[in-house]
Amino acid sequence: MVEVKLGAATVTRIEESYEPNFAAKTFFPDWKPEIVDEHRSWLVASHYDEASAMLKLSVHSWLLNIGGKRILIDTCVGNHKPRPHRPKWHLMETKYLERLKAAGVTPDQVDMVMCTHLHVDHVGWNTRLDDGRWVPTFRNAKYVWSQDDFDFYGKLDKDPEKGPANGGSFRDSVLPVVEAGLARMVKGAAELDEHLRITPAPGHTPGTIRIELDSRGQKAVFCGDILHHALQVYHPEWNSFACLDQDNARKSRRATVEHCAGTGARLLPCHFGAPFTCHIESKGAGFVPRFVG
Ligand SMILES: [Zn+2]
Repeated sequence: MVEVKLGAATVTRIEESYEPNFAAKTFFPDWKPEIVDEHRSWLVASHYDEASAMLKLSVHSWLLNIGGKRILIDTCVGNHKPRPHRPKWHLMETKYLERLKAAGVTPDQVDMVMCTHLHVDHVGWNTRLDDGRWVPTFRNAKYVWSQDDFDFYGKLDKDPEKGPANGGSFRDSVLPVVEAGLARMVKGAAELDEHLRITPAPGHTPGTIRIELDSRGQKAVFCGDILHHALQVYHPEWNSFACLDQDNARKSRRATVEHCAGTGARLLPCHFGAPFTCHIESKGAGFVPRFVG
């Protein structure tokens, strides 16, 4: 289990899956085969599977313990959810909740759930199947995400030609939380408490946020899909196939990389391979990751 101490905070990685899952050349339109030899020492095999030419993108949550509060950041794909458009994520049955429990937290003890954006692999455990209905998994929690993403995907979901939004996850993993009265949507930048701050980072989706933690001067950034892969530290201009607004996705990524390099904040991404977190250092005109376990 990966556990990071930052000031008074403890951050624990809760794994859902970690396997080769996306063809590199379709995931990154800018992918070129030479990149493998250029970065082989760290890239293979924790971040890239050479045999299948697939990226190895982890899917995990971060459990943040601070000031007696338990906050779950990004909730993966979830169990039993029909996702025929993504066979690896279709009707999953993982031991995610058991892993959460092994980290010392039951669903009823989670105080807050935060979603960096509303894509299918960031909202899944928001709900669970109960007697044929999708109900909030964390019934004592407030769920925080951006109003902009909710408005954008809500509209798309209702469009008979484009809906259901995000592979059905808007209906089974977002709306039931709103209907249960547990959603707390934020617009723009927000201070959640003395440790946590939300900064808008639009591009990957219109309402993508980055979550900044500062405890006793120790800083971290939960970046969601602003960066999917550590190669994007070297290439902040690389968008994924899933980035909606190409220019703004690049701008928000560069701003996040510069923020980490400038403040020393540890990057806590959702999809990087082992060891799953890094610092970012400036090197020449660019940036390099310094992985920390
Ligand atoms: Zn994602």
